[in-house]
Amino acid sequence: MRSHRIAAIPADGIGQEVIPAGLEVLQALAERSGDFRLDVTSFPWGSDFYRQTGRMMPEDGLETLKGFDAIFFGAVGDKELPDDITLWGLRLKICQGFDQYANIRPTRVLPGLTSPLREVAPGDIDWVIVRENSEGEYAGHGGRAHRGHPEEVATETAIFTRAGVTRIMRTAFEIAALRPRKLLTVVTKSNAQKHGMVFWDEIAAEVARDFPSVTWEKELVDAMAARMVRRPRSIDTVVATNLHADILSDLAGAVAGSLGVAPTANLDPSRRFPSMFEPIHGSAFDIAGKGVANPVATFWTAAMMLEHLGEAAAANRLMTAVERVCADGVLTADLGGTARTADVTAAVCAAIRGAN
Ligand code: NAD
Ligand code: MN
Repeated sequence: MRSHRIAAIPADGIGQEVIPAGLEVLQALAERSGDFRLDVTSFPWGSDFYRQTGRMMPEDGLETLKGFDAIFFGAVGDKELPDDITLWGLRLKICQGFDQYANIRPTRVLPGLTSPLREVAPGDIDWVIVRENSEGEYAGHGGRAHRGHPEEVATETAIFTRAGVTRIMRTAFEIAALRPRKLLTVVTKSNAQKHGMVFWDEIAAEVARDFPSVTWEKELVDAMAARMVRRPRSIDTVVATNLHADILSDLAGAVAGSLGVAPTANLDPSRRFPSMFEPIHGSAFDIAGKGVANPVATFWTAAMMLEHLGEAAAANRLMTAVERVCADGVLTADLGGTARTADVTAAVCAAIRGAN
């Protein structure tokens, strides 16, 4: 029997609720399939761990995680701790330490959900945003001088490398080539940012030669934001820089109906290191501990993890179950329903057990 080693890191707030729900559903899938097993180890890392030890994870945390096939991550963020400590101390440490340079964010309007876009019905939107996750505007390159003086200066320099842009472009073309429409939109801002963004456009054209089956086009990021709202059906796969895709993917999440359904994968496509799968939402202080968090983002995330582990049949079974449960109206409060986390989880497990 195939076996996959999963490191579960629920971390903070509703991460403690949605990750156990995700593990329950994964277990139901493994039992239903009978072809694979999941060997799960949970780690108590996060803000409480920080309060006890002064660190978000142990010093050798990355060494420990290296032995796993995938990381199933909840969320970080604590009312009492600065966000840069919680974010950089755990989540970004893993993303950067494991060179998870491709951040993949699928968007669909699931059955039973309502998009804020008037003319968008479930099934109308099927996007994948590929975000550069290792350099660009978030490279952390810059500095400040003359603090507090009138001549104070701050710089924040975007870094684009040929290796970095080529590899994310390649990943995006590969993903586009596997999708039915084979359409890739390369988002830049090469009219105003005439160095780094022109470089992106040039590398896109170079990489495109290796993917003759993919139709590709360029779009400026501001125009892309408008197009996502005005002509959402014209979009399929999108590749953009760290900053641009960060913003566009929040817009995508809003268009899909709720933050509580949006998944993401932080991939090391070279598979040198384990990749990390997480819902895009944060720790949601306002609802944490109440048992009402929407687990759908985490379930979809689990499906992406299964896909990455080569368990495509189980991933499909999971998404079919999630869609059935949403269509049946078993929805949490963020989607206008009254179901609790445990109700949605039980309904998805039942759909998995009942499916052929
Ligand atoms: P958030 O995503 O935690 O919450 C935003 C809003 O969406 C809240 O009203 C919340 O209740 C709602 N929401 C989010 N997920 C939901 C779910 N699954 N079901 C139902 N409702 C849901 O963002 P925030 O409030 O800006 O941030 C809270 C903390 O989380 C901060 O410390 C922030 O830094 C952190 N954060 C972490 C990550 C991450 O770990 N990847 C991502 C975003 C924010
Ligand atoms: Mn963001």
